Amino acid sequence: MLSLKTLPLLLLLHTQLSTAFPVPAESLEEKNTKFVQNYLEKFYHLPKIHQSERKNSTSVIVEKLKEMQRFFGLNVTGKPDDETLKTMEKPRCGVPDGSDFMLTPGNPKWENMNLTYRIRNYPFNLRKDDVETAIKRAFEIWSDPTPLNFTRILKGKADIEIGFFIKDHGDNSPFDGPNGILAHAFQPGYGIGGDAHFDAEETWTNTSRNYNLFLVAAHEFGHSLGLSHSSDPGALMYPTYAFREPSTYLLPQDDINGIQAIYGHSSNPIQPTGPSTPTACDPRLTFDAITTLRGEIFFFKDMYFWRRHPQLRSVQQDFISLFWPSLPNGIQAAYEDLDKDLVFLFKGNQYWALSGYDIQQGYPKNISNYGFPCSVQAIDAAVSYRGKTYFFVNNQFWRYDNQGQFMEPGYPKSIANTFQGIERVDAVFQQHDFFFFFSGPRYYAFNLNAHRFTRVGRGNKWLNCR
Ligand SMILES: [Zn+2]
Ligand SMILES: [Zn+2]
Repeated sequence: MLSLKTLPLLLLLHTQLSTAFPVPAESLEEKNTKFVQNYLEKFYHLPKIHQSERKNSTSVIVEKLKEMQRFFGLNVTGKPDDETLKTMEKPRCGVPDGSDFMLTPGNPKWENMNLTYRIRNYPFNLRKDDVETAIKRAFEIWSDPTPLNFTRILKGKADIEIGFFIKDHGDNSPFDGPNGILAHAFQPGYGIGGDAHFDAEETWTNTSRNYNLFLVAAHEFGHSLGLSHSSDPGALMYPTYAFREPSTYLLPQDDINGIQAIYGHSSNPIQPTGPSTPTACDPRLTFDAITTLRGEIFFFKDMYFWRRHPQLRSVQQDFISLFWPSLPNGIQAAYEDLDKDLVFLFKGNQYWALSGYDIQQGYPKNISNYGFPCSVQAIDAAVSYRGKTYFFVNNQFWRYDNQGQFMEPGYPKSIANTFQGIERVDAVFQQHDFFFFFSGPRYYAFNLNAHRFTRVGRGNKWLNCR
């Protein structure tokens, strides 16, 4: 405790410390303001503002900040809150986000469907043929759904010139060393038009390590062909970097729609389709699995999850692969064991254990460890409560004793008989004295003391949708 006696001494100490550093350290707030302004100048066309004019320009900055928050689907506060700063810190493309349109303003496009590209130089840390394979595949992503063709040339000027550069490289858009801006590309046109530049100071890879060249190149070539950034977080044209497995990568539907709006369809009789991003407030939204994790609630859907903060009630959408690169998409069931402080995730007959965000060693394991008969090859939903874990499979459920590690006798039982009102479960989690069941687009709150359902509502109410 601070007593009055110690106070003057502390003050004195403080004065001495301050005079020892004649240049006052920049406050955190000051640092953030500069960082935010810099970001908005680069990516949201905020005019350069000198420190002396900053007071008078607050409203311009607030408006640009709101524009950025709207683009990324954040809470539109006009303030550089934590969520906003975190988004701004993510590695990203150097092309501004600008307008709400997917197409670059003025809709520049190539008139010729047969385009050439040339790799002018190579990064230090990736083998030449790995670079060439990544670039080739990145073009195929765009030629598959369109009439476009790409041919690599080794001499002369290509339509799309590809190069790796550091810092200022003569196009007024300097790179910034490792992380931050990864690459940029120019819209279709003569000269520099269509060219794609990569920051040579990044570590380029053909794996899940940062940064996968195929993923970044595929994004940049979208700009080379006339697309601008998409605000769909699942789109390839989303401005920030997110790892996704390259070997099974399919161009998302949002990008297919964008590129076909410019160049039309390919003549291929089977049109490629890509994954669509689930939207939180779609009234038909259902969930694959839900679990609590150290106070937060995780809602899994396809290759995504939403996490809900209990006090702030804020909801964030992210890729499963961004948090857990080794987990598959389409998690089917999940529960938290509060006694062991572990979360278990299920897909098919496999399961994984998480401690916090870390996948434990020795997983995946087979669900036969729980004592399921061979006829059970997948679990719909799971939840743990007072030392027992409930597993929901089709119209039945099983109960497992966590301490004794055995499946309790007398199971499986009919879901409809015990939890009257529901027959099948997509996902379930426990909070306070409730099981929250999700079946189709609705949720059902089951009071564990009263042994009955007390509330029903739209499932995505949990994602702050009305
Ligand atoms: Zn971009
Ligand atoms: Zn450049």
